[in-house]
Amino acid sequence: MAEAEVTLYCTVHPSVATTLRCNRCGRPMCTKCAVKTPVGYRCRECVRAQQDKFFNAQLLDYLIAAVVSLVVSFVAAAIVARLGWFLFAFFLSPAAGGLIGNAVWRLTGKRRGRYTAAIVGTGVVLGAVPFLLWNPLAIGIYLFMATGAAVAQFRLHL
Ligand SMILES: [Zn+2]
Ligand SMILES: [Zn+2]
Repeated sequence: MAEAEVTLYCTVHPSVATTLRCNRCGRPMCTKCAVKTPVGYRCRECVRAQQDKFFNAQLLDYLIAAVVSLVVSFVAAAIVARLGWFLFAFFLSPAAGGLIGNAVWRLTGKRRGRYTAAIVGTGVVLGAVPFLLWNPLAIGIYLFMATGAAVAQFRLHL
């Protein structure tokens, strides 16, 4: 087409000539502005708009994520600290983490949040911290395994 013969100038940097166009909105963009995505080169604004549509969590979802992870983790960590068997911590911790991740995922209507995984990870840690002095070894295992398992749930769904 004749399009290729016309010199284009970047929308953001009008002095920079380019041959690239965003494949979503069609605006000319220079190599600095172009973002490589799995569906081709796009401008920053289109990438941002796409992410906003992808991450559809609401503010309430973050509150639910914080409360559920904190409360369930508190109970699970209390059990782990009380029982105190080493092997038990190895089995219960990932199970509790998986349960927390899954519960939050369902309770938030399976919406994707930019910060949900970080909030759940923090909630799991904070819920268990009060028991750290009571049983450092078991809670140490718990902190490591439960947090990992809870956060992994969100990576699965992304
Ligand atoms: Zn665009
Ligand atoms: Zn540019």
